[in-house]
Amino acid sequence: MSDFSRSGTIADRIAQIRQTLPANVRLIAVSKQVSIAAMQEAYDAGIRDFGESRVQEAEAKQAQLREWSDVTWHLIGHLQANKANKAIRMFEWIHSVDHLKLAQRLDQLAAQLDQSPQVCLQVKLLPDPNKFGWTIAELLADLPALSECQHLNICGLMTIPPLGLSQSEVIGVFQQTRELAATISRQQLPGLDIQELSMGMSEDYALAVQSGATMIRLGRILFGDRT
Ligand SMILES: *Cc1c(COP(=O)(O)O)cnc(C)c1O
Repeated sequence: MSDFSRSGTIADRIAQIRQTLPANVRLIAVSKQVSIAAMQEAYDAGIRDFGESRVQEAEAKQAQLREWSDVTWHLIGHLQANKANKAIRMFEWIHSVDHLKLAQRLDQLAAQLDQSPQVCLQVKLLPDPNKFGWTIAELLADLPALSECQHLNICGLMTIPPLGLSQSEVIGVFQQTRELAATISRQQLPGLDIQELSMGMSEDYALAVQSGATMIRLGRILFGDRT
């Protein structure tokens, strides 16, 4: 494991990473367990996309950051059905839709609340007991039902490789995710145009970008190790 202990300012790190990114890659600052002061530094350095793992933590922060009307909030952590209602109201993007029932629940709520959240489907290409998500076979089987979730903008896949893979194995996971997105898009199911690939974290974002990521989710490399 790399050690992302703090060196340089948050603004320096953001600037350095931005220099290496193609223009189409959206940098999401993952601010779970990060102070409001550090988030403010990121905002001042130009970050307008923040990712949070937990609805409750995000709710407390959003309450303090109401003046940030130009920020897009991304939910990146596992969502329990009983928090789906809040999540739809708080997040423009939900990256962690990880099973059909949840997608259908969100679709219902989106209709009721007159919202149309951007959604990524979380996929698990290698077995990983610590992660949620569809296997390829499960996802392909669920596509017709997902296609009927008309109040969701299902536009991406999200993945997190298991810990402990070699670089080439990580690249394999990212490339397979990109291929899966292309396979889905080729089916031309209504409402399932998968253009976004949410993949890459502090340890592996360079490999993800090289494999076609359109959104990277960076925490520790910007803010330092979480305590
Ligand atoms: C915490 C988290 C990240 C950020 O991880 P870092 O290693 O801190 O960059 C990205 N994606 C998800 C889903 C996370 O839970």
